Amino acid sequence: MSANVVVAGASMAGLRAAEQLRAAGWDGPITLVGDEPHMPYNRPPLSKEVLAGKAPFESLAFRTRASVADVRWRLGTKVVAADLDRRVATLDNGESLAYRGLVAATGMRPRRLRCPGPVTGRHTVRTLTDAQGLREALTRPGARVVIVGAGFIGCEVAATAVSLGAAEVTVVDPLPLPMVGPLGDLLAKALLTRHEERGVRFALGTGVTGFEGDDRVTGVVLADGTVLAADVVVECVGSLANTEWLDGNGLDLTDGVLTDGHLRAGGRPDVVAVGDVARFPNARYDGVPRRVEHWSIPTDTAKHAARVLAAHLTGTDAGLPPFAPLPTFWSDQHDFRLQSFGAPALGKDDVRVLDGDPDGDVVAGYHAGGRLVGVVALGGPAAAAAASRYRSALIEQPALTA
Ligand SMILES: Cc1cc2nc3c(=O)[nH]c(=O)nc-3n(C[C@H](O)[C@H](O)[C@H](O)COP(=O)(O)OP(=O)(O)OC[C@H]3O[C@@H](n4cnc5c(N)ncnc54)[C@H](O)[C@@H]3O)c2cc1C
Repeated sequence: MSANVVVAGASMAGLRAAEQLRAAGWDGPITLVGDEPHMPYNRPPLSKEVLAGKAPFESLAFRTRASVADVRWRLGTKVVAADLDRRVATLDNGESLAYRGLVAATGMRPRRLRCPGPVTGRHTVRTLTDAQGLREALTRPGARVVIVGAGFIGCEVAATAVSLGAAEVTVVDPLPLPMVGPLGDLLAKALLTRHEERGVRFALGTGVTGFEGDDRVTGVVLADGTVLAADVVVECVGSLANTEWLDGNGLDLTDGVLTDGHLRAGGRPDVVAVGDVARFPNARYDGVPRRVEHWSIPTDTAKHAARVLAAHLTGTDAGLPPFAPLPTFWSDQHDFRLQSFGAPALGKDDVRVLDGDPDGDVVAGYHAGGRLVGVVALGGPAAAAAASRYRSALIEQPALTA
């Protein structure tokens, strides 16, 4: 029951928060509570190298730095409630942890399809356990794979399934193009062509209404009545924020934990949110609070939030300007990479080719109000390197106004 910082969620954002609290001078106790049984591990390889069998599961663990050697780990334990007025977090074994500072780092879980039909044979990819189960299914000879959702995880899983020799790989999505939400038409069309050339089929502009089969899935029923034969279904239809443990505290938990421009929740100086679960205004853009599910965000949010929280706990002033990260994202699919800097989704109505050609390696610039807000490369390493040359231009742009 010592005065403590409690970090709920022991994955990348939780680990980075603990490291950054130490870096910011907080030398008091830190307790990380995580419901998975593992030490923090890296998720991006779960849909790529690990699923393809090119990297062992053991290679995913993050190195824990000496600065957090004294952190208390409560793994395999869930935070089920928090009373923010009393400053107490309750664990699933009934134990109470009093805290002086609370870090919400509970991330996301996969959204599931609510369609009639069998459940066995339907997979998601978020955890090590998920990836292990999916790999086993994908490597069964002659597997016919249907992936529901043409976002980045769906596209990555499709590419990996092809590389594993699946007999058929089909991606279904109600939208007309893969990843069209974040990329816009120009690059989404180029992405579609590349996947089709490498053996992925698409059923676009139609949703899933049900699953066929008795004990396990044998087919996927589409809204237009088509039935796709399937041995393996992968549901990549987005994610839901893990915020239920914060219910009842008057916080805005609509799609994540709403924070102010310093990652503090509900106007409370002792509660911050980091990583995928944080819905924060980015002072670089229009100030509209958004969650950002990019690998760069756990580290960026942890650096800012830890300094803010440590300053509160030690009675000092963090003296920071509002949080204004430059989001960066990559996605490896087949033999090419998507590399993104900035916020392309904000500028997808004004996309201009900056380098190359959509039929080959290409770098596209995304503009809002005539201003460059994002750059995305599609292609080999040279395209990604070309995109990175626009980083400083993106950083130097004046803030967008709402
Ligand atoms: C398959 C996959 C591939 C990806 N590939 C890329 C990529 O190529 N490029 C890229 O930029 N990004 C990628 N990402 C995104 C990136 O990995 C995430 O942004 C990052 O992992 C978020 O980390 P986090 O710690 O905020 O959340 P999470 O990793 O979701 O961690 C939250 C942790 O909290 C735990 N938890 C939840 N509720 C509770 C509770 N009540 N009590 C205790 N613990 C709880 C969860 O079980 C989990 O361990 C990928 C993500 C996935 C899933």
